Amino acid sequence: MLDFSVNPISLELLTQLHDRYQSCRSGTVARYIPELAKMNPNAFSICVASVDGDLLSVGDDRQLFTIQSISKVFTYGMALEDRGRDMLLSKVGVEPTGDLFNSIIRLDENSKRPDNPMVNAGAIATTNLIQGNTATDRLNRILNTFKAYAGRDLYVDSSVFMSERTTGHRNRALAYLMRHFEMMDDRIDETLDLYFQQCALLVDCRDLALMAATLANNGVNPRSGDRAIESKYVRDLLSVMYTCGMYNFAGEWAYRVGLPAKSGVSGGIIAVVPGKMGIAVFSPPLDSHGSSVRGVKVCEDLSNICKLHLFDRFES
Ligand code: GLN
Repeated sequence: MLDFSVNPISLELLTQLHDRYQSCRSGTVARYIPELAKMNPNAFSICVASVDGDLLSVGDDRQLFTIQSISKVFTYGMALEDRGRDMLLSKVGVEPTGDLFNSIIRLDENSKRPDNPMVNAGAIATTNLIQGNTATDRLNRILNTFKAYAGRDLYVDSSVFMSERTTGHRNRALAYLMRHFEMMDDRIDETLDLYFQQCALLVDCRDLALMAATLANNGVNPRSGDRAIESKYVRDLLSVMYTCGMYNFAGEWAYRVGLPAKSGVSGGIIAVVPGKMGIAVFSPPLDSHGSSVRGVKVCEDLSNICKLHLFDRFES
């Protein structure tokens, strides 16, 4: 029992939500990365991890899947640590787009920045800023940071990586356009490989809940006690998640759910209740915004039932 809210989050409640939405047949599994089309549309898991390290989970919580865009949150944190807020803000904005995640960018007319680090263009520019002398150094730094968040070693799914590497022409185009405007350095192919690899990191729903709980716990993994990010940058990550994490659904999400969150095209969603817990849902069928249909429904119900919306001021 995680007793943080008006209605405590119990295994029973998670089981009820899982039962309620297991039969939901809306949405379609992502197909534009060929390997992702093979995902099982019925896989479904809900996990909640508290800042005390307790974890509740139901469904296919050990099923591995690639993290995809949820990775953008954590690499944004790395770039902030490497370069500082001012430098980062000069290269990547923090404005919501109202466009799809892979939209062909409108680079800001004056600054030439991509809109924010949660859309593909901004995420690629962000990964470009991660320090390291070689591609291997940079990948190892990403792996170590993600390990600190998840509390275990994570590995790249090479089939998904290669699948996106050979078909990700749109992301390649975004990178070259940004190179033209000098928003990227010359390591275009190296950075794209790193970006495709960070997206292809394998996680399960429990990992995602712990990664979200690490953000809820001000950057310290609640189980291992390891710090994954300097505490002063956690608010930056949560701010861009809140305003941009759900792409062109971010406004409605803020209104309905009211929590910083991030979704990915393989069907994962994380949401953070600052100071309290991390929530993760995995279910591959996506809505038109590129977010998990069951994931959005579960988060909305959890937020309403447990009064988790950040602006809920309930009478006790
Ligand atoms: N790797 C995917 C892409 O760049 C990530 C997109 C996502 O999860 N929204 O297209």
